[in-house]
Amino acid sequence: LDPLFHKAIPILENLEQHGYQAYFVGGSVRDHLLGNSVKDIDIATSATPTEVQAIFSKVIPVGIEHGTVIVRHNKQSYEVTTFRKDGNYSDFRHPDEVFFVSKIDDDLSRRDFTINAMAMNKHGDIHDPFHGEQDIKRQLIRTVGLASDRFYEDPLRMLRALRFVSQLGFSIEQHTLESIKKQVNFVNELAVERLAVEFEKTIAGAYVTSAIPFYRDVNLWGQLPVFKEQPKLTTHVEALNQPLALLYEVFALLKIKQPELDLRQMIRLWKLSNNTYNAANKLVQLLSQYEQNGLNNWLIYQLPESLYVSFIRLIDVLHQENDITLMTIKDVASKLKITSISDVAFTGKDIINLYQNRNKGPWIQSYLNQIEKAIVTGELQNHFQDIKEWILSCHPPEKS
Ligand code: ATP
Ligand code: MG
Repeated sequence: LDPLFHKAIPILENLEQHGYQAYFVGGSVRDHLLGNSVKDIDIATSATPTEVQAIFSKVIPVGIEHGTVIVRHNKQSYEVTTFRKDGNYSDFRHPDEVFFVSKIDDDLSRRDFTINAMAMNKHGDIHDPFHGEQDIKRQLIRTVGLASDRFYEDPLRMLRALRFVSQLGFSIEQHTLESIKKQVNFVNELAVERLAVEFEKTIAGAYVTSAIPFYRDVNLWGQLPVFKEQPKLTTHVEALNQPLALLYEVFALLKIKQPELDLRQMIRLWKLSNNTYNAANKLVQLLSQYEQNGLNNWLIYQLPESLYVSFIRLIDVLHQENDITLMTIKDVASKLKITSISDVAFTGKDIINLYQNRNKGPWIQSYLNQIEKAIVTGELQNHFQDIKEWILSCHPPEKS
């Protein structure tokens, strides 16, 4: 068993000692059987949230109405969810109500795909009423129960199916795929935020090149913001030869490919944040500088560290041959003479003193920016006297 499971066994034991059933469920069991590293561990139990709260000292009530709490144990967080079934999904977003149930099988039956509907006890025994293990062996994504019902209940599952294709490289079982084709228009009803989560995971999957063609085959593109309005944009995503990681990298890519696009509008249609817009916009600007001038000090100076990896990934996608790595960028960054304008050995006040008979105005900031750039590019030393002479030679003061 993965050490992450071992760390969590005391939680199962504690629940069992209090007379409840408890299992590992969902993605962690699937990943364990695949032999992949396990990420977060989800636990299902017959105890209600209130009963869980009574047993553990540190419990965070994150989604009590859905039966979910977070239990903190040895500095780790575990989602502990009461066995439940979902009621109607009349708004296509949330089940109208959830029912707590006493049997693990009922809980497993509400889950989306057979590979996600297995439970594992503390000894590592697998409980698998829907034959998920067999589907793992056959590499198949298959709904639990009748596909048409399950996708009608929650159309997000159609995107999730393609997301698992992208992450696992599996195929979609025939009935499951037929149902997606028939019912894909229900995706229109979903909250964009939910679409964004699954779409991002899809473009980040190791098998993204297997998953994306399905978006066309089942006409999922026709249900997604931006792509439904401008169907031609899909070709840029379909041309991906390797995964991206973040949704804003997609929109940066689209904007680079088609500069006439409105980046802010695309970000808005996907209900992403302003910060996301800023990140995408910065990437677009710096990638276009890169296309014109290649990698240089000035470019790296403007690139926030948080965007290094996205920047490289997009260069990888845009160019067949790219030898720029994180090392390359960190190396250039570490040799920069300054890392921000506040490092410049000359201030706005110094400029004002130098040009005493001029009125204050935006020219001051503009001079400072010229100094900043000259220092970064290596044209100018970051010393007061050098800067003073340089700026005076660039902008000789008017005679009064
Ligand atoms: P990941 O490794 O990306 O977290 P995961 O399988 O854990 O994958 P989650 O979205 O974290 O996926 O969901 C946890 C589990 O909850 C799933 O494995 C599945 O059993 C169930 N589940 C999640 N979303 C749905 C859904 N829309 N319909 C039915 N079951 C779902
Ligand atoms: Mg998960």
